[in-house]
Amino acid sequence: MCEAAHHSEVVGILRECSNKKSTPGRLRIVHRMCLRYYGSDHTHYSRCDELMNLTGYPEGYYAATAVGVFEHPQLAGAERADVCVIGGGYTGLSAALNLAEQGFDVVLLEAERIGFGASGRNGGLIGSGQRKDALEMEQQFGFERSRQLWDIAEAAKTEIRERVAKHDIACDLQYGQIEGVHKKSYTGHAEKYAAALAERYDYPYARALSREETRALVATDDFLEGLYDAKAMSLHPLNYALGLAEAARAAGVRIFENSRVTRYTRDDPSVVSTQRGQVEASFIVLGCNGYLGRLEPRVAGKIMPINNFMLATEPLGETRARELIADRICVHDTRFVVDYFRTSEDHRLLFGGGENYRSGFPADIAAFVRPYMLRLFPQLDDVRVDYAWGGTLSVTVNRLPHLGRLEPNLFFAQGYSGHGVAISNFAGKLIAEAIGGTATRFDVMASLPTYTFPGGTLLRYPGMLLGMLYYSLKDKL
Ligand SMILES: Cc1cc2nc3c(=O)[nH]c(=O)nc-3n(C[C@H](O)[C@H](O)[C@H](O)COP(=O)(O)OP(=O)(O)OC[C@H]3O[C@@H](n4cnc5c(N)ncnc54)[C@H](O)[C@@H]3O)c2cc1C
Repeated sequence: MCEAAHHSEVVGILRECSNKKSTPGRLRIVHRMCLRYYGSDHTHYSRCDELMNLTGYPEGYYAATAVGVFEHPQLAGAERADVCVIGGGYTGLSAALNLAEQGFDVVLLEAERIGFGASGRNGGLIGSGQRKDALEMEQQFGFERSRQLWDIAEAAKTEIRERVAKHDIACDLQYGQIEGVHKKSYTGHAEKYAAALAERYDYPYARALSREETRALVATDDFLEGLYDAKAMSLHPLNYALGLAEAARAAGVRIFENSRVTRYTRDDPSVVSTQRGQVEASFIVLGCNGYLGRLEPRVAGKIMPINNFMLATEPLGETRARELIADRICVHDTRFVVDYFRTSEDHRLLFGGGENYRSGFPADIAAFVRPYMLRLFPQLDDVRVDYAWGGTLSVTVNRLPHLGRLEPNLFFAQGYSGHGVAISNFAGKLIAEAIGGTATRFDVMASLPTYTFPGGTLLRYPGMLLGMLYYSLKDKL
């Protein structure tokens, strides 16, 4: 290459390296060019260092804004531990951290990277209560049990707040959430619900909003009224997962990435195998959720993996972002295929909408999600989409989480049904409590009824598809 061409290419590289808007894919190319010109000694380009750590994460806004990505080794050879945790999402990380704090010797095995699954890709909304509202829970289980489950969900919110504070996790924790009511037949519920929470659940933080009040906080004409919850929260999901991992590592947990578990024995101790290593452990914790695959057929039929999608717009500027959604509160609506959104620290709209029920993602995720965004915010028609990504979560038949014990030494938690940021994190803690000998709260969650999807793992999709079509049609009526 002639000197001038070489020079302009190098200038281009430098510009890309300092351009915060570059996507991870583009930066990876730049990184390879840097290596070609400068060899491995180019640590002064800090974005390149970040990038090397980001390898193995799906491209998206969260990966592009991740902080504290630490590369953990792959399991090779034999390890021994009290507990082997499988899965590096909130369930697994929280179980590992809480166990290590109780004095257990813990190994965590993650098939890909920490937070690679739903925990590093979700909307970041932390709602109050369980996935079903407290009045529905009362109808199903009576007041006493509903209150117990509400208290557990409140403790789950507290656990997140305390973890963020204790480990100083930079995950942009924000307060305030609105449920926007999109359908006439659902109006009136917000007022009744807020009153019930205040009177029977000692929760005075929710209040009903009129259409005008809702419109003043969220610039959409779609909502007929709203339910404002001052103590619900939101956060940057991947950075929270990375913060938990760092806390777990500091507490002594040995974390291995790119270490997919292929099988485990049902003995005591169990032997957990990956392609290149083995862990002998007295207990196993299974936290694979929507990414479980065929690892544990005894629980696979209780959940349905579904894919959900998000986008991040270009930065809107502080004024436009605040006009769109006030006070950086987060929002979801009452649709069955729920729309959920909030603004980011750098004033983008992060919008989740649309899902599919097969193994692949749409080829153009941005084009798939954008119509959902424009249905609520037609004023964003001129706005560019910078990132779009998808993730897999798991739902249960009754939309309640599925926790349990398959063997005296094998615990699992899964099926948070789209309401898992706080509950999966807490499920990990409850499993740690149970292994430590106090199973009271674990038992409350584990006693929730669970059902097998009709058709099991092979035939559950056709039935699910029909069900989903029915409910999404109901959304429109
Ligand atoms: C797009 C999207 C938006 C969402 N939005 C919200 C929201 O706003 N609010 C909310 O409350 N919930 C939301 N959820 C749900 C929430 O993210 C999940 O409930 C939660 O993250 C589940 O955590 P988890 O640790 O159980 O599972 P995951 O985070 O999926 O972690 C499972 C991990 O197990 C690993 N694994 C799988 N198999 C193996 C194996 N054989 N060996 C080793 N490791 C293995 C996977 O690689 C993965 O990292 C959303 C989910 C998605 C996908």
